[in-house]
Amino acid sequence: MTDLKHMDLPVNVLGENRESLEYFFQELGEQKYRAHQLMQWVYHYNCRDFTEITVFSKKLRNHLCSVASVGLPTHLETHKSHDGTIRWVLETSTGDAIETVLIPDGKRMTLCISSQAGCSLDCTFCATGKQGFNGNLTTADIVGQTYFVQDWLHKNRYPNGISNVVFMGMGEPLMNFEASMPAADIFMDDLAFGLSKRRVTISTSGVVPMIDAMVGRTEASLAVSLHAANDQLRNELVPLNRKYPLDRLFESCKTYLDSLDTRRNITFEYTLIKEVNDQPSHAEELIDFTSNIRSKINLIPFNPFPRTSYERPSIDQIKLFQSTLMDRGVMATLRTTRGDDINAACGQLVGDVHDRTRRKIRHEKLHRKSLALDVSNANE
Ligand code: SAH
Ligand code: SF4
Repeated sequence: MTDLKHMDLPVNVLGENRESLEYFFQELGEQKYRAHQLMQWVYHYNCRDFTEITVFSKKLRNHLCSVASVGLPTHLETHKSHDGTIRWVLETSTGDAIETVLIPDGKRMTLCISSQAGCSLDCTFCATGKQGFNGNLTTADIVGQTYFVQDWLHKNRYPNGISNVVFMGMGEPLMNFEASMPAADIFMDDLAFGLSKRRVTISTSGVVPMIDAMVGRTEASLAVSLHAANDQLRNELVPLNRKYPLDRLFESCKTYLDSLDTRRNITFEYTLIKEVNDQPSHAEELIDFTSNIRSKINLIPFNPFPRTSYERPSIDQIKLFQSTLMDRGVMATLRTTRGDDINAACGQLVGDVHDRTRRKIRHEKLHRKSLALDVSNANE
């Protein structure tokens, strides 16, 4: 007998990992392997119409049509950069506009996906954070971005499909753990996108309990947005640090790394902001912090956005910071800025979310106040 009372109907196939699709088919009174066949048709043959699945009986096809679907986010806009980067604005099932960015680099096609509509953590240097927060995306909204882009690449005759997925778009994936983990499963599942675990990266500002919860739940790569290796400065840049300071963050990173095979490492992302965290003393702190953990550092030059008072350091200052690390044997790559002509660079994604927190308005008010202060100081 069919008992689907634990699932919202119709089930969006893109929102269910292999395990939960197996459960779904069992509830339909079918064998588990039917879930595997469905995944192959949906992800490998790009089939969204269940009546085409010839390996299913007519009865099962019709039944599926009434209890399941393959629902994609709605396409709103496409923006192409002169450097090949493409930014899409998509509407989610909850009506928020979110952003997804493709960064082609030779054969490598990295897709940067969003996990939330806005972000509830208010990092001072991030446009997404400044815009406020409206809620979590569903697994189907997260996977749907990837499915949409894969389909787009195919239709536009790109020779290569998506090779890497990074949770570095809008939002904090570990504040949406329940939806992000099954999405990562689907990216790594051979029956779906089949990406290796090294090519699926969860980027976090340091939600310590959820890094702990990743242990044994996933083997995806972990990138931690550090930006400062002393608590005082990090408290200022990443307010979450007040709750989960650096020593706790370090322990959790280590525990997660220990759960993976010994050839894996963690990436520490470090956004370089002029005269804030780009001095030789900051490089020294970073060297100390990373010396006892298998890691590499990814330096990101700060990307400006309207109403920020932060600036990007000069290229000489950035290179000096990098060479200070490298000279001490620390692996440090410099991320080239991509897509900034279409507002697609790191930290520039804002979409169009209904801001439940009213943070955007507060941020604009504060900015107007400080401008007024600047003007009156200048007039004194
Ligand atoms: N919330 C997650 C993932 C999204 S942010 C996180 O914080 O890791 C993705 C990356 O962009 C993070 O490393 C973040 O610190 C960085 N970033 C945010 N704003 C930026 C900006 N204005 N310039 C450069 N990098 C930025
Ligand atoms: Fe959120 Fe990440 Fe931006 Fe911080 S950097 S506000 S955690 S999206």
